[in-house]
Amino acid sequence: MPVYEYHCVECASTFEKLVPMSANGEPSPCPECGGRSDKQLSTISLLGVDSAPSRGGGCCGGGGGCACSS
Ligand SMILES: [Zn+2]
Repeated sequence: MPVYEYHCVECASTFEKLVPMSANGEPSPCPECGGRSDKQLSTISLLGVDSAPSRGGGCCGGGGGCACSS
C-alpha cells in the first residue's frame, strides 16, 4: 500500500497517510484541523528533486520550453 504525503492548505502542516489503491485520488482531511490537504509527491521523490542540478536562475535554469526563460 503506497504512502502519500499531504500538505494541509489550512494550517500548513504535513502528514503521511497510507492510501489504498481503491481510494487513490480521494481527498484526505488534515488530522490537525480537518482542513483540505493536497497530496504531495512521495518523500523519496522530494529528496530527488532537492538534489537535482536545476539551480542557477529562474524556475528551471533557463532551459528551453519554460515560460520563465523569455
Ligand atoms: Zn490542517
